[in-house]
Amino acid sequence: MADRPLLSLSPDDAVTRLKGVGPARAACLQRLGIFTLRDLLFHFPRAYENRGDIKTLLQGTDGLCAAFRLTVQSVPRVARPRRGMTLTTMRASDETGTAEIVFFNQEYVAGQIEAGRTYRFWGRLQYRRGHYQISTPAFEPILPGVALPDLVPRYPLCENLSQKAMHTLICDALAAVRDKLDDPLPEHLRLGEQFPTLSVALEQIHSPTDKQSLRAALRRMMYEELFCMAIGIARSKRENSDLRMPVFTKTDMTPFLQALTFSLTRAQARTVGEICRDVSLPGEDGMTAAMRRILIGDVGSGKTVCAEAAAFLAAQNGKQTALMVPTAILAEQHYAECKPLFARLGYTVELLTGATPQKEKRQIYERLQGNGPRIDMIIGTHALLQDKVVFDDLGLIITDEQHRFGVAQRATLKEKSQLCHLLVMSATPIPRTLALSMYGDLAVSRLDEMPPGRQITDTYVVDESYRDRLNAFIRKNAAEGGQIYVVCPSIEQPDETEEPADEVEMSDLFSLTPEGRPPLKSVVAYAEQLRRACPQLRVLLLHGQMKNAEKEAVMQAFARGEADVLVSTTVIEVGVNVPNASLMIVENAERFGLSQLHQLRGRVGRGKRKSYCVLVSDSKGEAARERLSIMHKCHDGYRIAEQDLLMRGPGDFFAAVDAGNVRQSGGFSLRLASACDDTELMQRAFAAAGRLVKADPALSLPEHATLQKEIERIFTLDDKTVS
Ligand code: ADP
Ligand code: MG
Repeated sequence: MADRPLLSLSPDDAVTRLKGVGPARAACLQRLGIFTLRDLLFHFPRAYENRGDIKTLLQGTDGLCAAFRLTVQSVPRVARPRRGMTLTTMRASDETGTAEIVFFNQEYVAGQIEAGRTYRFWGRLQYRRGHYQISTPAFEPILPGVALPDLVPRYPLCENLSQKAMHTLICDALAAVRDKLDDPLPEHLRLGEQFPTLSVALEQIHSPTDKQSLRAALRRMMYEELFCMAIGIARSKRENSDLRMPVFTKTDMTPFLQALTFSLTRAQARTVGEICRDVSLPGEDGMTAAMRRILIGDVGSGKTVCAEAAAFLAAQNGKQTALMVPTAILAEQHYAECKPLFARLGYTVELLTGATPQKEKRQIYERLQGNGPRIDMIIGTHALLQDKVVFDDLGLIITDEQHRFGVAQRATLKEKSQLCHLLVMSATPIPRTLALSMYGDLAVSRLDEMPPGRQITDTYVVDESYRDRLNAFIRKNAAEGGQIYVVCPSIEQPDETEEPADEVEMSDLFSLTPEGRPPLKSVVAYAEQLRRACPQLRVLLLHGQMKNAEKEAVMQAFARGEADVLVSTTVIEVGVNVPNASLMIVENAERFGLSQLHQLRGRVGRGKRKSYCVLVSDSKGEAARERLSIMHKCHDGYRIAEQDLLMRGPGDFFAAVDAGNVRQSGGFSLRLASACDDTELMQRAFAAAGRLVKADPALSLPEHATLQKEIERIFTLDDKTVS
């Protein structure tokens, strides 16, 4: 085939330049954040099918998803059991047995599969009515002298695009531009780490020859992600230090402290002092640098009051404050708390969310601009980021649970906050070693002390054999008037054709002894089982695929006590307060990072009830059990985070940072780094970035030209945002 047109392509060309990509397919790719050929190359598999591990039919248990080497015994037959449905069937066997192969609505395979030939089939084996059956498998002819790949990538897909088609597109794109791919990693670093070049690495990731080369390729890309992130952060630190603001002169906190119903902990007092100093200490020019501070504190450590103190400082000095939170329900909770406190101090607080009625919104916009009664503090969701929202005199932006905001929102925020103080709050206790690199552009305050009177949530690790006792425990808690959270890692029962079990996940490639993973619990199935086992319980369901309004409604109902049990994915992680909740159950606990488990545990133990956390795991792996047992012994978020870093590497923390990140075209994503289990690799990447920025701050040396371009692309937003 003449591939002449492909030869003139560049990585930044639109995907439509590829053969087979028309407007419809391009639109579909766009939904995956793929606009250019480069985007295609960086569309990484989420897992690999382990097709090199051939099983015999005899070895195959019912439900096993695996590769089988079978010779087709009968000519494929096409039947039409009803209108709009075709069944293409054939018999195929190995030395241990015979299976029926069935394809649904794929009539064309009848022309592709020949009786008498041998194929490698990949699919789920079922044992029905005394017969083996494999339905709609992937198949590849086994030909003499042609090696089949052992590891076959599985990509995130959109509708109407098969795995095979996606893979072909990516391979075409790679073939077309591989000679024009400049490597952003400076050569001396790449050689020092013995990494493959960018194009070799991409080739391995999309068409791996073996596990070892694939692993090397992934490590290289991981390093590159971390390296670029560190460079971007180091550079934004430089930029920030140039922003000068008038100092706040009124710094008397007495009225604020008197208005509180409690006294500050030492850690809170220290933090408020740090904030005070940031905004009030003049430099030589009589001005001060814009505050860029992150407040890190365990759930319940009392971050809110520090934010309120900062807002009070701003108000006292005639400046407005915007407090941004990720969900409307959180905004309402903050509002309910702040409004009366600030009223006592003589300041006005308003709420702005998607749910605010139009008329009220317009009034708020007007008032924020200085027309009408003054608003000193506005609390809201992303709605605060719209262009329509213009402030009269914004002096401080506070974000709560900042890593839930995507990179895009952070950038918008930055634009609005050119001359603003910025305080971000995070409940993820990032270990010190990491915090420096991940939040390098922010000064860090830590709340490492809990307000007095906090109770400890007793934590237990159990396996499936405790199921009945666990259900009884749920009933007992509900009967006593408590409420229960159940967290499961997945939404629905995996679709049989879509989610083969025997795939190699990215993170498995890095672990030395990949353990057999227990199957995933889904919220839908769990809720159903629980309703059946305990019909008296009022059970609600919550997951990320529900519409925002729906989620809010469920959360509100649970907070009002209208249900006993909330079965949810990790969307509840973000700080909603239900003091009556006294039991947290986490299914497939082995799937979660310890810090995440600690966050989840922090959802209970907020009221007067004695609270419990039960971690359910059927994992047989020694390491997994040991890891979970830390949760039983330890209740300090920082110590847990440090342990997690030691045992699993930094991946979980990057995943947390990346969560909610809408992928931009060619944009910044820590997809691979979130599988990183190698703290040393990370540290080397960060150290190299630090050295490089020091030696060549503007990245102006010729050998850094490609890197400079890459950094620009990653950290500059274009308007092709995925909606
Ligand atoms: P988080 O850090 O998770 O955001 P919050 O700010 O919501 O924590 O505080 C948790 C609870 O502790 C709130 O009910 C708050 O009123 C209370 N609290 C905060 N600081 C103190 C303190 N110094 N003494 C007593 N209670 C406090
Ligand atoms: Mg909070």
